[in-house]
Amino acid sequence: MSSNLDTVALAATTLLSNYRQAPLALVRGKGCEVWDADGKRYLDLYGGIAVSTLGHAHPKLVAAITEAAQSILHTTNLVYNEPSVRLAHKLTSLTKPTPNAAPVLTRAFFCNSGTEALEACVKLARRAAFLKGEPTRRRFLAFDNAFHGRSMGALALTGTPKYWEGFGCDLQAVTHVRYGDEAAVRAALAAHSGEYCAIVVEPVQGEGGVLPAPQGFLKLLRTLATEAGALLIVDEVQTGIGRTGLWFGFQREGIEPDAIALAKGLGGGVPVGAMLVREELNGVLSPGTHGSTFGGNPLATGAALAVLQTMEDERLVEQVATMGETLSRLLRDVARKHPSVFEGERGLGLLRGLIMRPGVEARTMLVAARDRGVLLSVASERVLRFTPPLVIKTSELEEAVRAIDAAAASITAVATEITQRSG
Ligand SMILES: *Cc1c(COP(=O)(O)O)cnc(C)c1O
Repeated sequence: MSSNLDTVALAATTLLSNYRQAPLALVRGKGCEVWDADGKRYLDLYGGIAVSTLGHAHPKLVAAITEAAQSILHTTNLVYNEPSVRLAHKLTSLTKPTPNAAPVLTRAFFCNSGTEALEACVKLARRAAFLKGEPTRRRFLAFDNAFHGRSMGALALTGTPKYWEGFGCDLQAVTHVRYGDEAAVRAALAAHSGEYCAIVVEPVQGEGGVLPAPQGFLKLLRTLATEAGALLIVDEVQTGIGRTGLWFGFQREGIEPDAIALAKGLGGGVPVGAMLVREELNGVLSPGTHGSTFGGNPLATGAALAVLQTMEDERLVEQVATMGETLSRLLRDVARKHPSVFEGERGLGLLRGLIMRPGVEARTMLVAARDRGVLLSVASERVLRFTPPLVIKTSELEEAVRAIDAAAASITAVATEITQRSG
């Protein structure tokens, strides 16, 4: 088998250089542990960026994928397939705004990624306005620092210039305002009254630095969207499927969105995305107006069903809430112990960030943690992000934070030495 170096060397001349990649190749995983091509073991605290819901090689997910491969992988959407219909039924049944309410989203469209789920939402909102005889109602309200994906439509919603600079996307159609800022939202809605087809929001800005919406903000947006005649679209690509300790982030405020976008954790590593919408919006995307060749295939939807079923069997959503508290406490402690490195921690459930002090590179910490066998990601330059598999155990969280403690100590030691030498 190839070593890390073999794969990295071949990649250097063959892969498009659009990613900043660590010089290692992962070859296998089990639960929250993964191994690279040279046999080094790591704890996976990024979970494939909020994707590996059940950890690696979970027997129930392996069984579902095997079952699909042995029966039928692909059917087209010219016919039905049972896993996709059962997944639609299961997913929509989970969209209760509050535990005793009826599900609010009753219809599912399947695609293959978060970007595609957002793209479907964008088309839904425009088309809904068009069908109501308001073709000029085309504007979206979205937020600074937001991330909604990388197609031209989803990119225009993404409120971070570094993602769209130089691509010429349709930014005239989007007004971005400060996340959590009620006055700014009201002003933007008033400035283009009658033009908005949708407000698009993340319950926690994930890529933007693990920033939860201030309490009450989603409720406010629900009210203002209705008043403005616009849809409320909640981007749950990162927050959905149990990540925050609830099935969906919107449930934290008990609101009723018009549509949500899902992907990342839904397939536990098998690519699958979804848009869920309210009953009244069914029919907006009539036959011929939207679709996907791969979307809803039995492989992806069978995998997603196994993920949801296993989450229920193992009571994972409840577990995320308690594990999230444990991780929060461990991160708070390590931040307090190294005040020159960390400013603090924030997040919900198992979507958490350690905030670096200005001047300390999150990427330096990332590498120092990786050297000590812990895989993490960076969000918005300044935040070290934790999105572990939802099956992670207390002992694994403790082991990971011990490694971060050691990594922070090494960075402090280097900084002290530099200061002493230059002083
Ligand atoms: C990751 C992400 C997306 C894009 O998903 P892809 O599967 O990478 O296309 C969209 N919105 C949010 C909130 C995300 O975190």
